[in-house]
Amino acid sequence: MNGSFRVPELVTSLIDGAPVPPGSDGHDLPVICPATEERVSVLREADAAEVDAAVRAARRAFDAGPWPRMTLEARKDILYRIRDVLRARTEELAWLECLNTGLPIARIREQVGRAARNFELFAEVASTMKGETYTGLEGYLTYVTREPKGVGALIAPWNAPIALASMRVATCIAFGNTCVLKPSEYTPVSMLRMVELFHEAGLPAGVVNLVNGRGSVTGAALVAHPGIDMVGFTGGTHTGAAIMAAAGRHLKPCILELGGKSANIIHPSADLDRALDGALAGIYSNNGQQCLAGSRILVQRGIADEFIRRFVERGRRIRIGDPMDSATELGPLAFADHLRRVLSYVDVARAEGAEVLTGGRRPPGFGRGYYLEPTAVLARDNASRVCQEEIFGPFATFLVYDTIDEAIAIANDTPFGLVAYVWAGDLDVVMRASRELKAGTIWVNTGMVRELRAPFGGYRQSGVGRDGATSSVEFFTEQKTTTIPVAPAPLPRLGSAQ
Ligand code: NAD
Repeated sequence: MNGSFRVPELVTSLIDGAPVPPGSDGHDLPVICPATEERVSVLREADAAEVDAAVRAARRAFDAGPWPRMTLEARKDILYRIRDVLRARTEELAWLECLNTGLPIARIREQVGRAARNFELFAEVASTMKGETYTGLEGYLTYVTREPKGVGALIAPWNAPIALASMRVATCIAFGNTCVLKPSEYTPVSMLRMVELFHEAGLPAGVVNLVNGRGSVTGAALVAHPGIDMVGFTGGTHTGAAIMAAAGRHLKPCILELGGKSANIIHPSADLDRALDGALAGIYSNNGQQCLAGSRILVQRGIADEFIRRFVERGRRIRIGDPMDSATELGPLAFADHLRRVLSYVDVARAEGAEVLTGGRRPPGFGRGYYLEPTAVLARDNASRVCQEEIFGPFATFLVYDTIDEAIAIANDTPFGLVAYVWAGDLDVVMRASRELKAGTIWVNTGMVRELRAPFGGYRQSGVGRDGATSSVEFFTEQKTTTIPVAPAPLPRLGSAQ
Protein backbone atom coordinates (compact mmCIF):
# COMPACT_ATOMS: atom_id res chain seq x y z
CA MET A 1 0.00 0.00 0.00
CA ASN A 2 1.56 3.31 -1.00
CA GLY A 3 0.88 6.24 1.20
CA SER A 4 2.08 9.67 1.90
CA PHE A 5 3.70 9.04 5.28
CA ARG A 6 6.98 7.40 6.10
CA VAL A 7 6.94 3.88 7.50
CA PRO A 8 10.20 2.91 9.24
CA GLU A 9 11.92 -0.03 7.58
CA LEU A 10 12.84 -1.38 10.98
CA VAL A 11 10.94 -0.75 14.19
CA THR A 12 13.24 -0.80 17.21
CA SER A 13 12.92 0.32 20.79
CA LEU A 14 13.04 3.97 21.81
CA ILE A 15 14.95 4.44 25.05
CA ASP A 16 15.88 7.68 26.79
CA GLY A 17 14.38 9.71 23.97
CA ALA A 18 16.34 8.06 21.14
CA PRO A 19 15.75 5.10 18.84
CA VAL A 20 17.89 2.09 19.69
CA PRO A 21 20.23 1.31 16.79
CA PRO A 22 19.66 -2.27 15.65
CA GLY A 23 22.51 -4.62 16.52
CA SER A 24 23.93 -6.96 13.93
CA ASP A 25 21.69 -9.77 15.11
CA GLY A 26 18.41 -10.14 16.94
CA HIS A 27 14.99 -11.66 16.55
CA ASP A 28 12.97 -10.05 13.75
CA LEU A 29 9.21 -10.24 13.26
CA PRO A 30 7.37 -9.14 10.12
CA VAL A 31 4.93 -6.23 10.45
CA ILE A 32 2.00 -6.96 8.15
CA CYS A 33 -0.71 -4.81 6.59
CA PRO A 34 -3.87 -6.88 7.14
CA ALA A 35 -5.66 -5.32 4.16
CA THR A 36 -3.04 -6.42 1.63
CA GLU A 37 -1.16 -9.15 3.57
CA GLU A 38 2.05 -7.37 2.57
CA ARG A 39 4.97 -6.86 4.85
CA VAL A 40 5.25 -3.14 5.59
CA SER A 41 8.06 -3.18 8.12
CA VAL A 42 10.13 -5.40 10.38
CA LEU A 43 10.14 -5.39 14.15
CA ARG A 44 13.45 -5.97 15.93
CA GLU A 45 12.48 -7.61 19.20
CA ALA A 46 13.83 -6.20 22.46
CA ASP A 47 15.47 -8.94 24.53
CA ALA A 48 15.86 -8.91 28.31
CA ALA A 49 19.03 -6.76 28.12
CA GLU A 50 17.24 -4.11 26.07
CA VAL A 51 14.26 -4.18 28.42
CA ASP A 52 16.72 -3.69 31.27
CA ALA A 53 18.15 -0.61 29.52
CA ALA A 54 14.64 0.80 29.07
CA VAL A 55 13.70 0.24 32.71
CA ARG A 56 16.98 1.80 33.85
CA ALA A 57 16.26 4.86 31.73
CA ALA A 58 12.78 5.16 33.23
CA ARG A 59 14.24 4.65 36.71
CA ARG A 60 16.81 7.42 36.19
CA ALA A 61 14.12 9.74 34.89
CA PHE A 62 12.04 9.01 37.97
CA ASP A 63 14.74 8.93 40.64
CA ALA A 64 16.81 11.90 39.45
CA GLY A 65 15.16 13.48 36.41
CA PRO A 66 13.06 16.62 36.10
CA TRP A 67 9.66 15.05 35.44
CA PRO A 68 8.51 14.15 38.98
CA ARG A 69 10.17 17.30 40.36
CA MET A 70 8.64 19.77 37.92
CA THR A 71 5.94 22.19 39.00
CA LEU A 72 2.46 20.96 38.23
CA GLU A 73 2.01 23.85 35.81
CA ALA A 74 5.16 22.98 33.86
CA ARG A 75 4.13 19.33 33.59
CA LYS A 76 0.64 20.32 32.56
CA ASP A 77 2.04 22.54 29.80
CA ILE A 78 3.95 19.59 28.33
CA LEU A 79 0.91 17.31 28.53
CA TYR A 80 -1.14 19.96 26.73
CA ARG A 81 1.55 20.22 24.07
CA ILE A 82 1.34 16.43 23.62
CA ARG A 83 -2.42 16.86 23.13
CA ASP A 84 -1.83 19.55 20.52
CA VAL A 85 0.86 17.60 18.65
CA LEU A 86 -1.31 14.47 18.54
CA ARG A 87 -4.16 16.53 17.11
CA ALA A 88 -1.88 18.19 14.57
CA ARG A 89 -0.59 14.78 13.46
CA THR A 90 -3.97 13.06 13.32
CA GLU A 91 -3.68 12.18 9.63
CA GLU A 92 -0.22 10.70 9.96
CA LEU A 93 -1.03 8.66 13.07
CA ALA A 94 -4.33 7.48 11.62
CA TRP A 95 -2.66 6.47 8.37
CA LEU A 96 0.08 4.50 10.13
CA GLU A 97 -2.37 2.78 12.44
CA CYS A 98 -4.72 2.00 9.57
CA LEU A 99 -1.88 0.49 7.58
CA ASN A 100 -0.94 -1.82 10.42
CA THR A 101 -4.32 -2.66 12.04
CA GLY A 102 -6.85 -2.52 9.20
CA LEU A 103 -9.22 -0.45 11.35
CA PRO A 104 -11.37 1.93 9.28
CA ILE A 105 -9.48 5.21 9.06
CA ALA A 106 -12.48 7.32 10.02
CA ARG A 107 -12.62 5.40 13.29
CA ILE A 108 -8.92 5.86 13.98
CA ARG A 109 -9.16 9.61 13.44
CA GLU A 110 -11.70 9.65 16.29
CA GLN A 111 -9.37 7.55 18.42
CA VAL A 112 -6.46 9.94 17.90
CA GLY A 113 -8.82 12.69 19.10
CA ARG A 114 -9.52 10.61 22.15
CA ALA A 115 -5.82 10.02 22.75
CA ALA A 116 -5.30 13.79 22.73
CA ARG A 117 -8.14 14.15 25.25
CA ASN A 118 -6.53 11.54 27.50
CA PHE A 119 -3.49 13.79 27.96
CA GLU A 120 -5.64 16.87 28.46
CA LEU A 121 -7.88 15.19 31.00
CA PHE A 122 -5.14 13.63 33.12
CA ALA A 123 -3.15 16.89 33.06
CA GLU A 124 -6.22 18.49 34.63
CA VAL A 125 -6.76 15.65 37.09
CA ALA A 126 -3.12 15.82 38.24
CA SER A 127 -3.17 19.57 38.60
CA THR A 128 -6.32 19.57 40.71
CA MET A 129 -5.34 16.72 43.02
CA LYS A 130 -6.21 17.37 46.63
CA GLY A 131 -4.82 16.17 49.93
CA GLU A 132 -6.43 15.50 53.31
CA THR A 133 -5.90 16.88 56.80
CA TYR A 134 -6.80 15.38 60.15
CA THR A 135 -6.94 17.23 63.45
CA GLY A 136 -8.64 14.59 65.56
CA LEU A 137 -5.48 13.56 67.38
CA GLU A 138 -5.27 16.31 69.98
CA GLY A 139 -2.17 18.49 69.76
CA TYR A 140 -1.20 17.18 66.32
CA LEU A 141 -1.80 18.08 62.73
CA THR A 142 -1.83 15.19 60.29
CA TYR A 143 -1.86 15.75 56.57
CA VAL A 144 -1.94 13.36 53.67
CA THR A 145 -0.19 14.10 50.40
CA ARG A 146 0.11 12.11 47.22
CA GLU A 147 3.32 11.33 45.39
CA PRO A 148 3.97 9.61 42.10
CA LYS A 149 4.49 5.89 42.56
CA GLY A 150 7.48 5.20 40.33
CA VAL A 151 8.09 3.35 37.08
CA GLY A 152 5.17 1.71 35.29
CA ALA A 153 5.28 -1.26 32.93
CA LEU A 154 2.50 -0.46 30.48
CA ILE A 155 1.35 -3.19 28.11
CA ALA A 156 -1.12 -2.57 25.30
CA PRO A 157 -3.09 -4.71 22.84
CA TRP A 158 -3.45 -4.49 19.04
CA ASN A 159 -7.16 -3.74 18.68
CA ALA A 160 -6.99 0.04 19.20
CA PRO A 161 -3.33 0.84 19.86
CA ILE A 162 -3.44 4.64 19.95
CA ALA A 163 -6.61 4.93 22.03
CA LEU A 164 -5.58 2.29 24.55
CA ALA A 165 -1.84 2.89 24.86
CA SER A 166 -2.41 6.64 25.21
CA MET A 167 -4.79 5.98 28.10
CA ARG A 168 -2.19 3.79 29.80
CA VAL A 169 0.58 6.38 29.29
CA ALA A 170 -1.48 9.47 30.19
CA THR A 171 -2.82 8.01 33.44
CA CYS A 172 0.71 6.99 34.46
CA ILE A 173 2.88 9.98 33.55
CA ALA A 174 0.44 12.78 34.40
CA PHE A 175 1.15 12.27 38.11
CA GLY A 176 4.94 12.41 37.66
CA ASN A 177 5.59 8.71 37.09
CA THR A 178 7.76 7.40 34.27
CA CYS A 179 7.19 4.26 32.23
CA VAL A 180 8.17 1.64 29.72
CA LEU A 181 5.47 0.98 27.13
CA LYS A 182 5.23 -2.33 25.31
CA PRO A 183 2.69 -2.34 22.51
CA SER A 184 1.47 -5.46 20.77
CA GLU A 185 4.05 -7.07 18.50
CA TYR A 186 1.40 -7.07 15.75
CA THR A 187 0.89 -3.30 15.70
CA PRO A 188 4.07 -1.40 16.57
CA VAL A 189 4.12 1.17 13.75
CA SER A 190 1.82 3.92 15.05
CA MET A 191 3.15 3.37 18.57
CA LEU A 192 6.71 4.25 17.57
CA ARG A 193 5.51 7.45 15.91
CA MET A 194 3.31 8.32 18.88
CA VAL A 195 6.23 8.06 21.31
CA GLU A 196 8.44 10.11 18.95
CA LEU A 197 5.74 12.79 18.96
CA PHE A 198 5.68 12.85 22.77
CA HIS A 199 9.32 13.88 22.61
CA GLU A 200 8.73 16.40 19.84
CA ALA A 201 6.16 17.95 22.20
CA GLY A 202 8.86 18.45 24.83
CA LEU A 203 8.56 15.39 27.05
CA PRO A 204 11.92 14.91 28.80
CA ALA A 205 13.95 11.86 27.76
CA GLY A 206 13.36 8.72 29.79
CA VAL A 207 9.79 9.51 30.86
CA VAL A 208 8.22 7.27 28.20
CA ASN A 209 10.42 4.48 26.86
CA LEU A 210 9.21 2.06 24.24
CA VAL A 211 10.16 -1.60 23.87
CA ASN A 212 8.83 -3.83 21.13
CA GLY A 213 8.51 -7.59 20.94
CA ARG A 214 6.46 -10.62 21.81
CA GLY A 215 4.66 -10.87 25.13
CA SER A 216 6.47 -14.05 26.12
CA VAL A 217 9.89 -12.39 25.60
CA THR A 218 9.79 -8.60 25.87
CA GLY A 219 6.57 -8.34 27.88
CA ALA A 220 7.52 -11.04 30.39
CA ALA A 221 11.00 -9.49 30.92
CA LEU A 222 9.38 -6.11 31.54
CA VAL A 223 6.83 -7.31 34.09
CA ALA A 224 9.47 -9.35 35.97
CA HIS A 225 12.03 -6.52 36.09
CA PRO A 226 12.79 -5.48 39.67
CA GLY A 227 12.94 -1.80 38.63
CA ILE A 228 9.20 -1.77 37.87
CA ASP A 229 6.87 -0.40 40.55
CA MET A 230 3.45 -1.06 38.98
CA VAL A 231 1.89 -2.70 35.95
CA GLY A 232 -0.86 -1.31 33.73
CA PHE A 233 -2.18 -3.88 31.28
CA THR A 234 -4.88 -3.88 28.62
CA GLY A 235 -5.38 -7.17 26.85
CA GLY A 236 -6.79 -10.68 27.12
CA THR A 237 -7.98 -12.30 30.33
CA HIS A 238 -5.51 -15.24 30.26
CA THR A 239 -2.58 -12.91 29.65
CA GLY A 240 -3.81 -10.64 32.44
CA ALA A 241 -3.84 -13.58 34.87
CA ALA A 242 -0.28 -14.55 33.89
CA ILE A 243 0.89 -10.95 34.28
CA MET A 244 -0.74 -10.54 37.67
CA ALA A 245 0.85 -13.78 38.87
CA ALA A 246 4.29 -12.65 37.67
CA ALA A 247 3.85 -9.19 39.18
CA GLY A 248 2.59 -10.71 42.42
CA ARG A 249 5.96 -12.36 43.03
CA HIS A 250 7.37 -8.87 43.68
CA LEU A 251 4.12 -7.47 45.09
CA LYS A 252 3.79 -5.04 42.19
CA PRO A 253 0.26 -3.65 42.00
CA CYS A 254 -1.59 -4.19 38.73
CA ILE A 255 -4.40 -2.49 36.92
CA LEU A 256 -5.88 -4.89 34.38
CA GLU A 257 -8.39 -4.06 31.66
CA LEU A 258 -9.37 -7.41 30.17
CA GLY A 259 -11.80 -9.16 27.88
CA GLY A 260 -15.57 -9.22 27.73
CA LYS A 261 -18.63 -11.02 26.41
CA SER A 262 -21.08 -8.28 27.05
CA ALA A 263 -24.85 -8.57 26.84
CA ASN A 264 -26.93 -6.19 24.80
CA ILE A 265 -30.52 -6.48 26.07
CA ILE A 266 -33.23 -5.40 23.64
CA HIS A 267 -36.54 -4.91 25.45
CA PRO A 268 -39.86 -4.47 23.58
CA SER A 269 -40.40 -1.08 25.24
CA ALA A 270 -37.28 0.31 23.49
CA ASP A 271 -37.09 2.58 20.49
CA LEU A 272 -36.26 -0.37 18.27
CA ASP A 273 -34.78 1.68 15.43
CA ARG A 274 -32.21 3.13 17.78
CA ALA A 275 -31.66 -0.25 19.41
CA LEU A 276 -30.96 -1.71 15.98
CA ASP A 277 -28.37 0.97 15.20
CA GLY A 278 -26.83 0.42 18.61
CA ALA A 279 -26.72 -3.35 18.27
CA LEU A 280 -25.04 -3.20 14.84
CA ALA A 281 -22.43 -0.65 15.94
CA GLY A 282 -21.98 -2.52 19.20
CA ILE A 283 -20.66 -5.60 17.46
CA TYR A 284 -19.41 -4.52 14.01
CA SER A 285 -17.58 -1.26 14.70
CA ASN A 286 -13.79 -1.38 15.13
CA ASN A 287 -13.89 -4.48 12.90
CA GLY A 288 -15.63 -6.29 15.74
CA GLN A 289 -12.40 -6.25 17.71
CA GLN A 290 -13.30 -4.46 20.89
CA CYS A 291 -13.40 -5.45 24.51
CA LEU A 292 -16.64 -3.57 25.05
CA ALA A 293 -18.50 -5.12 22.11
CA GLY A 294 -22.14 -6.02 22.71
CA SER A 295 -21.43 -9.50 21.42
CA ARG A 296 -24.37 -11.33 23.04
CA ILE A 297 -27.56 -9.73 21.79
CA LEU A 298 -30.53 -10.78 23.94
CA VAL A 299 -33.87 -10.10 22.23
CA GLN A 300 -37.30 -10.58 23.75
CA ARG A 301 -39.28 -13.34 22.03
CA GLY A 302 -42.16 -11.14 20.90
CA ILE A 303 -39.88 -8.88 18.84
CA ALA A 304 -37.07 -11.31 18.08
CA ASP A 305 -37.97 -12.43 14.52
CA GLU A 306 -38.45 -8.92 13.21
CA PHE A 307 -35.44 -7.46 15.04
CA ILE A 308 -33.10 -10.23 13.89
CA ARG A 309 -34.40 -9.99 10.31
CA ARG A 310 -33.65 -6.26 10.23
CA PHE A 311 -30.26 -6.76 11.89
CA VAL A 312 -29.23 -9.34 9.29
CA GLU A 313 -30.46 -7.20 6.42
CA ARG A 314 -28.46 -4.18 7.65
CA GLY A 315 -25.45 -6.35 8.47
CA ARG A 316 -25.31 -7.57 4.88
CA ARG A 317 -25.22 -3.96 3.66
CA ILE A 318 -22.24 -2.94 5.81
CA ARG A 319 -19.53 -1.51 3.54
CA ILE A 320 -16.55 -3.87 3.69
CA GLY A 321 -13.44 -2.50 2.06
CA ASP A 322 -10.12 -0.76 2.06
CA PRO A 323 -9.68 0.62 5.58
CA MET A 324 -7.92 3.68 4.12
CA ASP A 325 -11.21 4.67 2.47
CA SER A 326 -13.14 6.99 4.79
CA ALA A 327 -16.41 5.40 3.68
CA THR A 328 -15.39 1.88 4.76
CA GLU A 329 -17.36 0.52 7.70
CA LEU A 330 -15.63 -2.86 8.16
CA GLY A 331 -12.00 -3.55 7.39
CA PRO A 332 -9.98 -6.76 7.70
CA LEU A 333 -9.19 -8.52 10.96
CA ALA A 334 -5.82 -7.64 12.39
CA PHE A 335 -3.78 -10.71 11.45
CA ALA A 336 -4.04 -14.11 9.80
CA ASP A 337 -4.16 -16.26 12.95
CA HIS A 338 -6.87 -14.07 14.36
CA LEU A 339 -9.01 -14.49 11.22
CA ARG A 340 -8.54 -18.28 11.48
CA ARG A 341 -9.54 -18.16 15.15
CA VAL A 342 -12.68 -16.10 14.52
CA LEU A 343 -13.65 -18.30 11.56
CA SER A 344 -13.23 -21.40 13.74
CA TYR A 345 -16.18 -20.18 15.81
CA VAL A 346 -18.44 -20.58 12.80
CA ASP A 347 -17.71 -24.32 12.97
CA VAL A 348 -18.14 -24.25 16.74
CA ALA A 349 -21.53 -22.57 16.29
CA ARG A 350 -22.68 -25.16 13.76
CA ALA A 351 -21.45 -28.05 15.91
CA GLU A 352 -23.41 -26.63 18.85
CA GLY A 353 -26.59 -26.47 16.82
CA ALA A 354 -26.65 -22.71 16.42
CA GLU A 355 -28.18 -21.24 13.27
CA VAL A 356 -25.75 -19.19 11.17
CA LEU A 357 -27.94 -16.24 10.18
CA THR A 358 -25.46 -14.41 7.96
CA GLY A 359 -21.76 -14.20 7.13
CA GLY A 360 -19.39 -16.80 8.46
CA ARG A 361 -17.07 -16.61 5.46
CA ARG A 362 -14.52 -14.42 3.78
CA PRO A 363 -16.39 -11.99 1.54
CA PRO A 364 -16.39 -12.86 -2.16
CA GLY A 365 -14.28 -10.52 -4.29
CA PHE A 366 -11.56 -10.02 -1.72
CA GLY A 367 -8.56 -11.97 -2.99
CA ARG A 368 -6.28 -10.56 -0.31
CA GLY A 369 -6.66 -9.29 3.20
CA TYR A 370 -7.99 -10.89 6.37
CA TYR A 371 -11.59 -9.95 5.71
CA LEU A 372 -14.64 -11.60 7.22
CA GLU A 373 -18.27 -10.87 6.42
CA PRO A 374 -20.34 -9.45 9.29
CA THR A 375 -21.47 -12.66 10.96
CA ALA A 376 -24.45 -13.42 13.18
CA VAL A 377 -25.62 -16.67 14.73
CA LEU A 378 -28.67 -17.61 16.78
CA ALA A 379 -27.49 -19.73 19.70
CA ARG A 380 -29.44 -22.53 21.34
CA ASP A 381 -28.61 -21.40 24.87
CA ASN A 382 -26.22 -19.31 26.85
CA ALA A 383 -24.12 -22.31 27.90
CA SER A 384 -22.80 -22.68 24.35
CA ARG A 385 -19.24 -21.66 23.60
CA VAL A 386 -20.30 -18.87 21.24
CA CYS A 387 -22.07 -17.30 24.23
CA GLN A 388 -19.36 -17.92 26.81
CA GLU A 389 -16.11 -17.22 24.95
CA GLU A 390 -14.83 -13.90 23.68
CA ILE A 391 -14.58 -14.23 19.87
CA PHE A 392 -13.31 -10.70 19.26
CA GLY A 393 -14.45 -10.29 15.69
CA PRO A 394 -17.49 -9.16 13.68
CA PHE A 395 -19.44 -12.08 15.13
CA ALA A 396 -22.79 -11.44 16.85
CA THR A 397 -24.48 -14.13 18.91
CA PHE A 398 -28.24 -13.81 19.39
CA LEU A 399 -30.25 -15.33 22.22
CA VAL A 400 -33.99 -15.08 22.72
CA TYR A 401 -35.51 -14.45 26.18
CA ASP A 402 -39.03 -14.21 27.57
CA THR A 403 -38.91 -12.07 30.72
CA ILE A 404 -36.54 -9.34 31.84
CA ASP A 405 -35.61 -11.54 34.84
CA GLU A 406 -34.45 -14.17 32.40
CA ALA A 407 -32.52 -11.60 30.32
CA ILE A 408 -30.67 -10.31 33.38
CA ALA A 409 -29.87 -13.85 34.51
CA ILE A 410 -28.50 -14.71 31.06
CA ALA A 411 -26.51 -11.47 30.90
CA ASN A 412 -24.89 -12.27 34.25
CA ASP A 413 -24.21 -15.92 33.41
CA THR A 414 -20.66 -15.32 32.12
CA PRO A 415 -17.17 -15.27 33.59
CA PHE A 416 -16.81 -11.68 32.31
CA GLY A 417 -18.34 -8.39 33.45
CA LEU A 418 -16.95 -5.50 31.45
CA VAL A 419 -20.04 -3.66 30.15
CA ALA A 420 -23.74 -4.25 29.44
CA TYR A 421 -26.16 -2.46 27.15
CA VAL A 422 -29.90 -2.08 27.81
CA TRP A 423 -32.40 -0.72 25.33
CA ALA A 424 -35.75 -0.05 27.02
CA GLY A 425 -38.33 2.71 27.44
CA ASP A 426 -39.84 1.16 30.54
CA LEU A 427 -38.21 2.88 33.51
CA ASP A 428 -38.68 -0.08 35.83
CA VAL A 429 -36.82 -2.30 33.38
CA VAL A 430 -34.03 0.25 33.07
CA MET A 431 -33.63 0.63 36.83
CA ARG A 432 -33.75 -3.13 37.45
CA ALA A 433 -31.18 -3.80 34.75
CA SER A 434 -28.85 -1.06 35.90
CA ARG A 435 -29.05 -2.36 39.47
CA GLU A 436 -28.74 -6.07 38.79
CA LEU A 437 -26.36 -6.39 35.86
CA LYS A 438 -22.89 -7.41 36.98
CA ALA A 439 -20.71 -5.19 34.82
CA GLY A 440 -18.42 -2.20 35.31
CA THR A 441 -20.32 0.02 32.88
CA ILE A 442 -24.00 -0.05 31.95
CA TRP A 443 -25.04 1.82 28.81
CA VAL A 444 -28.78 2.56 28.71
CA ASN A 445 -30.31 3.48 25.35
CA THR A 446 -26.94 4.38 23.94
CA GLY A 447 -24.03 2.80 22.18
CA MET A 448 -20.54 2.88 23.62
CA VAL A 449 -19.73 6.38 24.77
CA ARG A 450 -16.83 6.85 27.11
CA GLU A 451 -17.04 9.45 29.87
CA LEU A 452 -13.29 9.39 30.41
CA ARG A 453 -13.57 10.90 33.90
CA ALA A 454 -15.78 8.09 35.19
CA PRO A 455 -14.37 4.76 36.36
CA PHE A 456 -13.97 2.23 33.55
CA GLY A 457 -13.10 -1.38 34.19
CA GLY A 458 -14.51 -4.81 34.65
CA TYR A 459 -16.19 -7.01 37.21
CA ARG A 460 -14.96 -10.60 37.54
CA GLN A 461 -12.55 -11.77 34.81
CA SER A 462 -12.90 -8.52 32.86
CA GLY A 463 -10.41 -6.72 35.02
CA VAL A 464 -8.90 -5.52 38.23
CA GLY A 465 -9.09 -1.82 39.09
CA ARG A 466 -10.46 1.08 37.10
CA ASP A 467 -9.25 3.83 34.80
CA GLY A 468 -10.83 7.22 35.43
CA ALA A 469 -10.19 10.52 37.13
CA THR A 470 -10.40 9.35 40.75
CA SER A 471 -9.42 5.73 40.21
CA SER A 472 -6.23 6.56 38.29
CA VAL A 473 -5.11 8.88 41.06
CA GLU A 474 -5.59 5.99 43.48
CA PHE A 475 -3.56 3.57 41.39
CA PHE A 476 -0.76 5.77 40.10
CA THR A 477 0.06 7.71 43.28
CA GLU A 478 1.17 6.76 46.77
CA GLN A 479 -0.42 8.35 49.80
CA LYS A 480 1.90 9.74 52.43
CA THR A 481 0.72 10.60 55.93
CA THR A 482 2.73 13.20 57.87
CA THR A 483 2.02 13.96 61.52
CA ILE A 484 3.43 17.06 63.30
CA PRO A 485 2.71 18.30 66.84
CA VAL A 486 1.24 21.80 66.74
CA ALA A 487 3.29 22.66 69.89
CA PRO A 488 6.07 20.65 71.54
CA ALA A 489 4.31 17.52 72.74
CA PRO A 490 5.30 15.39 75.70
CA LEU A 491 7.63 12.52 74.78
CA PRO A 492 8.56 9.49 76.86
CA ARG A 493 12.06 10.18 78.21
CA LEU A 494 13.60 6.72 78.28
CA GLY A 495 16.88 6.45 80.18
CA SER A 496 16.44 9.81 81.86
CA ALA A 497 15.68 8.52 85.40
CA GLN A 498 18.35 9.56 88.01
P1 NAD B 1 -3.12 -10.25 24.53
O1 NAD B 1 -3.47 -10.53 25.94
O2 NAD B 1 -2.78 -11.38 23.66
O3 NAD B 1 -1.87 -9.24 24.42
C1 NAD B 1 -1.90 -7.97 25.02
C2 NAD B 1 -0.48 -7.52 25.24
O4 NAD B 1 0.13 -8.36 26.21
C3 NAD B 1 0.41 -7.60 24.00
O5 NAD B 1 1.27 -6.47 23.99
C4 NAD B 1 1.20 -8.87 24.25
O6 NAD B 1 2.44 -8.89 23.59
C5 NAD B 1 1.39 -8.81 25.75
N1 NAD B 1 1.69 -10.08 26.42
C6 NAD B 1 1.30 -11.33 26.06
N2 NAD B 1 1.78 -12.23 26.94
C7 NAD B 1 2.50 -11.55 27.87
C8 NAD B 1 3.23 -11.92 29.03
N3 NAD B 1 3.32 -13.18 29.42
N4 NAD B 1 3.83 -10.96 29.74
C9 NAD B 1 3.73 -9.66 29.38
N5 NAD B 1 3.07 -9.24 28.28
C10 NAD B 1 2.44 -10.17 27.54
O7 NAD B 1 -4.34 -9.40 24.01
P2 NAD B 1 -4.58 -8.94 22.54
O8 NAD B 1 -4.94 -10.16 21.76
O9 NAD B 1 -3.46 -8.08 22.09
O10 NAD B 1 -5.87 -8.01 22.72
C11 NAD B 1 -7.14 -8.48 22.71
C12 NAD B 1 -7.68 -8.66 24.11
O11 NAD B 1 -7.58 -7.43 24.82
C13 NAD B 1 -9.13 -9.02 24.13
O12 NAD B 1 -9.36 -10.01 25.09
C14 NAD B 1 -9.81 -7.73 24.53
O13 NAD B 1 -11.07 -7.88 25.13
C15 NAD B 1 -8.81 -7.16 25.47
N6 NAD B 1 -9.01 -5.71 25.60
C16 NAD B 1 -9.50 -5.20 26.76
C17 NAD B 1 -9.75 -3.82 26.89
C18 NAD B 1 -10.32 -3.22 28.15
O14 NAD B 1 -10.23 -1.99 28.31
N7 NAD B 1 -10.91 -4.00 29.05
C19 NAD B 1 -9.48 -2.99 25.80
C20 NAD B 1 -9.00 -3.56 24.63
C21 NAD B 1 -8.75 -4.91 24.54
